Amino acid sequence: MIDSHCHLDRLELGEGSLDDSLYQARAAGVRHFLCIGVNLDTAMDPIAVAEQHPDVSASVGVHPLYHTDQLPDPNKIRELAAHPKVVALGETGLDYFKQDNDPTIQKAAFEMHLDLAKELSLPTIVHTRGAVEDTLAIMRERACADAVGVLHCFTEAWHMAEAALDMGWYISISGIVTFRNAQALRDVAARVPTDRLLIETDSPWLAPVPHRGQSNEPKYLPAVLDCVAQQRGVLPGELAQQTSSNFARLFPQAQL
Ligand SMILES: [Zn+2]
Repeated sequence: MIDSHCHLDRLELGEGSLDDSLYQARAAGVRHFLCIGVNLDTAMDPIAVAEQHPDVSASVGVHPLYHTDQLPDPNKIRELAAHPKVVALGETGLDYFKQDNDPTIQKAAFEMHLDLAKELSLPTIVHTRGAVEDTLAIMRERACADAVGVLHCFTEAWHMAEAALDMGWYISISGIVTFRNAQALRDVAARVPTDRLLIETDSPWLAPVPHRGQSNEPKYLPAVLDCVAQQRGVLPGELAQQTSSNFARLFPQAQL
């Protein structure tokens, strides 16, 4: 299976090392990791991890909650995205869950990421929370059939998933799907078409049941896989294969 979204440069490993964490994940069946950038100041951290490990790819972007009052510099994004281990832009998107972040900057930066994605022919990793209509409106306006991406750590209702799927996008399910109160998300996970589904840990956050309360690591991806497979009535191995080939299709530059 492939962890389509993790923050390997931010794992909380205590005494352990990243090498150990990756070793344990591989032993649990994870064969590739997409390490996600969250801002430009630290953009080299995921890239450095990817440089050190052949089975790690990286992305470049600014998370909606990491903006300053300045728009990110598109030339800096272009420059970083030219690195051979960078396979996607993001995470970008909109997060209105907390009110103290300026939506004007979030929207302008999201639009910029989608424009750059088109220009550079890279897929986009989108974080969306509490901003369904604005996220879809910008995707409609800025993305196109040959510049799609994934709504990562999806937690919204089916109608949003359906709208994104209609535009050719992918949906990625995190460990939230295992949470007791997440029945609506389990229903979404059961309905996403087989060829548009991805799985992720979003580690170090959102450890799945039965690891809740611990810091998350990619080695817990099987808990996500098993839960989604159960919802869909397929064997975990089958789902691992399906989601891995979806990953390969969406991120063709990843060296799998
Ligand atoms: Zn993330």
